Amino acid sequence: MTVTPQQVLDRLAGVLSPRGVALTDAGVLSEIAVNGDRVFFSINVETSETGAWEGVRAQAEAAVRAIPGVSVAMVALTAERKPGDPAYPPPRSGQGIPHVSTHRSPPPSGSPMARQTDIPGVAAVIAVASGKGGVGKSTTALNLALGLRALGLRVGLLDADIYGPSIPRLTGIREKPQLTADKKMVPIARFGLAVMSVGFLVEEESAMIWRGPMVTSAIRQMLRDVAWGELDILVVDMPPGTGDAQLTLAQTVPLKGAVIVSTPQDLSLIDARRGLAMFRKVNVPVLGIVENMSFFQCPHCGARSDIFGHGGARHEAERLGVPFLGEIPLHMSIRETSDLGHPVVESDPDGPHAAIYRTIAGHVRDRLQETIATV
Ligand code: ADP
Repeated sequence: MTVTPQQVLDRLAGVLSPRGVALTDAGVLSEIAVNGDRVFFSINVETSETGAWEGVRAQAEAAVRAIPGVSVAMVALTAERKPGDPAYPPPRSGQGIPHVSTHRSPPPSGSPMARQTDIPGVAAVIAVASGKGGVGKSTTALNLALGLRALGLRVGLLDADIYGPSIPRLTGIREKPQLTADKKMVPIARFGLAVMSVGFLVEEESAMIWRGPMVTSAIRQMLRDVAWGELDILVVDMPPGTGDAQLTLAQTVPLKGAVIVSTPQDLSLIDARRGLAMFRKVNVPVLGIVENMSFFQCPHCGARSDIFGHGGARHEAERLGVPFLGEIPLHMSIRETSDLGHPVVESDPDGPHAAIYRTIAGHVRDRLQETIATV
């Protein structure tokens, strides 16, 4: 039986708001989005009020989750920014970090990191990011995760690319996550990885219309309400770009480091520089740059052509003082295996491409150990 928005509203009528009236009469609810057994909506309040509303958000989520037929309820507490609003705190000096209040009130300290929470059982979370889409970020994130697993680490993969989650396709996962007795989502086990994707919960089309604060809230839920188990590394496939949503995410996720994926073209390198600046802004160490589609390798004769002016990322990394983690050729077998849901590190572990990803994974692990040791 499908849940209707009206059923959700009926439940929410039983939740009292801090304004002394029912939540449904407080004028704060967004449209109720129902997608099969999953319900999403947001509560929009003034920035100054978010502290008082957090409990209501949790109650609303619990009330909706208790409706028979609902398996996932995601409720975001969003604060609309109003430039003239005296309650809206000014940006921190020189940083311009967007203040997006979702589940918690802002931290008292000036550090963006104060907002982060550690995930129990997960030793390190790293981001794989790119300045723009289509550079092979997700393919790299997945094969990097598999490379880390091949090094004997316990690895999880979180697809946080809410604007176009591609990990379901790249892993061939079609099932939905099960829930534990305490309603945590169980990641899907595939290729020895614990995999969770926004794409398991929403269809790609509905993912597109999510607004920034809701994205952040959804990611928090992916981190907090998922039974990750014991992991050495959780690899987060970030949404492409370096806009406000990404910056907020970089603040939200308790990151120990970031890997930037770039193609050799100039434009992409400019974008990669922006990515670097973004992580520096929020004090996340950049573990290094990976050059993807670095050179073309002919599938027939193996000959190599530098169609994009190969080597740009290596030079750029040197110039910026960031480690260069390695170069991955543009090769048919990487595209085919990715798009068929059989990533190359898994489907051809003895081949040259798997070896490249494992080498990159080794550099990432070493860099991570170094940076953790020095903080
Ligand atoms: P992004 O996450 O940056 O949008 P994807 O990982 O989804 O990019 O990759 C975009 C497309 O490029 C996919 O079809 C993928 O199979 C292909 N691709 C990625 N890396 C390579 C590569 N090194 N060689 C060939 N094709 C690749």
